[in-house]
Amino acid sequence: DSITTDMATLTKEIDKYTKDRKLEIETLRIREEYRKEFLGNISHELKTPLFTVQGYILTLMDGAVKDKNVRDKYLRNASKGVERLIYIVKDLDMITKLEVGDLRLKIEIFDIVALIESVFELFEMKAAKKSISLTFDIDYKEPILVRADKERMQQVLTNLVVNSIKYGRQQGTTEVSIENLTKKKVIVRVTDNGEGIEKQHISRLFERFYRVDKSGSRKEGGSGLGLAIVKHILEAHNEKMYIDSEFEVGSEFSFTLEKA
Ligand code: ADP
Repeated sequence: DSITTDMATLTKEIDKYTKDRKLEIETLRIREEYRKEFLGNISHELKTPLFTVQGYILTLMDGAVKDKNVRDKYLRNASKGVERLIYIVKDLDMITKLEVGDLRLKIEIFDIVALIESVFELFEMKAAKKSISLTFDIDYKEPILVRADKERMQQVLTNLVVNSIKYGRQQGTTEVSIENLTKKKVIVRVTDNGEGIEKQHISRLFERFYRVDKSGSRKEGGSGLGLAIVKHILEAHNEKMYIDSEFEVGSEFSFTLEKA
């Protein structure tokens, strides 16, 4: 009798073992797929600027361009291509750190109003090129203290503000506002009256490399990683993020922050 009980236990254990191994193999398979897709995306993103830069360098090396102004222009374009490559590599570095959970947050107390103002200053020129006005909608410009990783929050704000300019219309506006949500939380909103996003894309925007209009976005540059980075940073903070967008009307990206 005890032998049959043992047999039953053994069979159960073998079953469990087999199931566990199957699950492990499946997890590894998914991870491998994911890794392949990630590598494929990276090479694709790097190819365009690399070929552009190489094109300008080869033309200059050829020595056929005699006009100094044209040569200077080609050099500037090559440099822009390299800048874009640096930007993509930095984003890749960030997303990799975030995804392997290698990014420890440095939580501190800081003034979110001042941080938003400094981000506006950084992108004033970029906005001016499209005659976009950057406005800050708060009642009083008093400090609002929050508890978060300041450098990472600067990145979140930068990515959202840059997007609102990139996908904003000529002479449009980018508005940032802060409001009390609960006793413990504020909500920061970045709103534009730009091209907006069609409903079917919204749930996928936070995926790495996802873009609504591939060709249009390419013209704008970027890595397709901006919002994936935003999502990771906010998740690491246990904060929430919302998107509200209407096609051809505008978009609003908002997120919560803990008050200090
Ligand atoms: P990137 O801007 O480098 O393409 P992001 O991850 O920052 O990558 O954004 C993903 C996509 O979401 C963009 O390509 C664009 O199609 C869309 N998007 C992001 N922000 C906005 C916005 N403010 N208005 C309209 N579309 C946007």
